[in-house]
Amino acid sequence: MDISYILNEYGEDRDDYFRAIAPPIIQTSNFAFNKVDDLRKGFEDEYSTWLYSRGLNPTVEILRKKLAALDGAEDCLVFNSGAAAIFASVLANVKSGDHIVSVKGVYSWAKKMFEEILPRFNVTHTYIDGTDVQNFAAATLPNTTVYYLESPNSWSFELQDLKAVAQLAKQHKIITICDNSYCTPLYQRPIEYGIDLSLQSATKYIGGHSDVVAGVLSGSRKMIERIFNSEYMNIGSGIQPFNAWLLIRGLRTLPARLSRITQTTNEVIAYLQQQPLVEKVIFPFDEAFPQYALAKQQMQGACGLLTFIVKASTVEETELFCESLKHILMAVSWGGHESLIIPGSAAVKRDAFSAANANHRMMRLYVGLEEADYIINDLQRGFAALQG
Ligand SMILES: *Cc1c(COP(=O)(O)O)cnc(C)c1O
Repeated sequence: MDISYILNEYGEDRDDYFRAIAPPIIQTSNFAFNKVDDLRKGFEDEYSTWLYSRGLNPTVEILRKKLAALDGAEDCLVFNSGAAAIFASVLANVKSGDHIVSVKGVYSWAKKMFEEILPRFNVTHTYIDGTDVQNFAAATLPNTTVYYLESPNSWSFELQDLKAVAQLAKQHKIITICDNSYCTPLYQRPIEYGIDLSLQSATKYIGGHSDVVAGVLSGSRKMIERIFNSEYMNIGSGIQPFNAWLLIRGLRTLPARLSRITQTTNEVIAYLQQQPLVEKVIFPFDEAFPQYALAKQQMQGACGLLTFIVKASTVEETELFCESLKHILMAVSWGGHESLIIPGSAAVKRDAFSAANANHRMMRLYVGLEEADYIINDLQRGFAALQG
């Protein structure tokens, strides 16, 4: 299916709603029946019945069709956050006594789930360096049921060889889950490499305007139906119709936004690489990136998020850099219209700062939709402040 067809037409039946270009927001909690037997069928199979909007909703349905098609998946579920998608995907594939192999440095709330929630139910985990597939094999135990991946991650951008990990997992009947938030399905489709479940925070590029929190989980119809009938309905964190509508709207411009951000990111990186106060730029599509060859092989693009190490000698200097910026906002998240920055020093106590630790001097930058010069001039303001 053409991406343009998926984003502009697929899943939409305009004859159902006055030929309106934009789909309606079916803001209803429940649906009425004429026949008892139809209601009975709804009770038996909520996965295919308009019954109650915690389950299916027509606006959400349009979004599900588009997102599953983008992922090259049979089906998907859309949650009220990426964190809910993560939680449901893992919960659906473990029971007491099971073990998870996860790459290290995963999204903070995935870590919380592994470290604080799942151990209460006797589900254990091992973190590995996922850059080498051998590490998955070495950490696999007889009770391992899930490999949890995030490729690239959103700070240091380490990758996993998705095809190789999926192959290994299949040999051991292990379910693979990959957080694909960095790439979106436009730049990487884990399911095509044999990954069982691909998820993303739709809060980032899919929404694209910093006004919705949502998450997507894609996989086989069998797996998605099973998750719908248990975790999805039970957690009750399905996306609401208005937010689904905002994501449909976000999807219309996703390719245009990504290609613009890709171009601007390259300009910003070229600037950073010649800036004397930058020690290093970390970005998967940079030739110096240790996994550059793998990135080029399994990703169709890379943009927006990058990290640079600034030559600061004190915590105050890292703070001065960020606080001198006039346009680039200091905030979590990314994928919206606005450029953002987070200093690594914000993740450590002030008196624990060590200039010898490059992580304390790193700046995680998100390049938004502004003009490249506008962003670069702002960064220059930060560097000028450091030069005093
Ligand atoms: C933001 C993010 C999430 C969580 O998504 P929410 O929509 O904030 O719940 C998961 N993984 C990655 C890589 C993220 O950046």
